[in-house]
Amino acid sequence: MISYHEITDALKSMGLQRDIPLIVHIDPSLRGSIKGGTSTLMGALLSNIDNLMLPAFTYSTMVTPEDGPENNHIDYGKSSDENLNAVIFSHTLPSEIGNQEEIDILKGFSGSYRSSHPIFSFYGLGLDIALLDHSPEKPYQPIKKLMDMGGWVGLFGAKASQNFSIHYAEYLAGRKQFLRWALTPDGIAECPHFPGCSDGFHKLQYYLQDEFREIALENTKFSAIPLSTLIKSAVALLEEDPFALLCNDLQCTCCNLVRTVIKDQIANHWKPERDND
Ligand SMILES: [Zn+2]
Repeated sequence: MISYHEITDALKSMGLQRDIPLIVHIDPSLRGSIKGGTSTLMGALLSNIDNLMLPAFTYSTMVTPEDGPENNHIDYGKSSDENLNAVIFSHTLPSEIGNQEEIDILKGFSGSYRSSHPIFSFYGLGLDIALLDHSPEKPYQPIKKLMDMGGWVGLFGAKASQNFSIHYAEYLAGRKQFLRWALTPDGIAECPHFPGCSDGFHKLQYYLQDEFREIALENTKFSAIPLSTLIKSAVALLEEDPFALLCNDLQCTCCNLVRTVIKDQIANHWKPERDND
């Protein structure tokens, strides 16, 4: 079993420091490998890092309209049952990505705050500045802010495909993303820049193998990297090769749609036009 001190040592040897804000993706299976489970893990994290951010994604808020833009990787008008079961986003809605135990501990600290994107909200401790102004139009705003603050991203037992920040790089590089809709207390909100498939994100590790700080504790991999290194490298890779980081599953309808869009863009001599927000 992994101990508190092993986690503390791992954080330090990865280069994490108290004053470096960290967004961390924790695989739910990690709890079972740690002596004392979630409370040990969060205790070690919060004793060594002042400002922590955790994703609290809520896909159950999503609804599908009868009609909408084409090339949007969605079946319009076929989800009336799912629409009836959709829930309105609220700040008390539990995370649907298996990390509510970690969030419950973070919430116990004064200075914790949840952002208000109806699908991709984040909890943070002492990170209100990154989490305010998280409107449905700007899913990657907390990642941008955390990067501007010199933040890092950690994957603790989590796969590369769970590294949501890479979708921000896709956004900056102008990669095709999607329009979705979610229920908010103010009605149905349009949520643009919804990310595509992340099953090819492990390919970035090949390019960044000298940049990821990795530690194995028992059989679990802990890795961390500065957000600016991750995102700038991913943007550069996508600008050099617009097909990079798509998955290898020939049946993946999402990546195949993105490939078709890229081919059309190349045929039309398309150049990305993004402001840096
Ligand atoms: Zn795919």
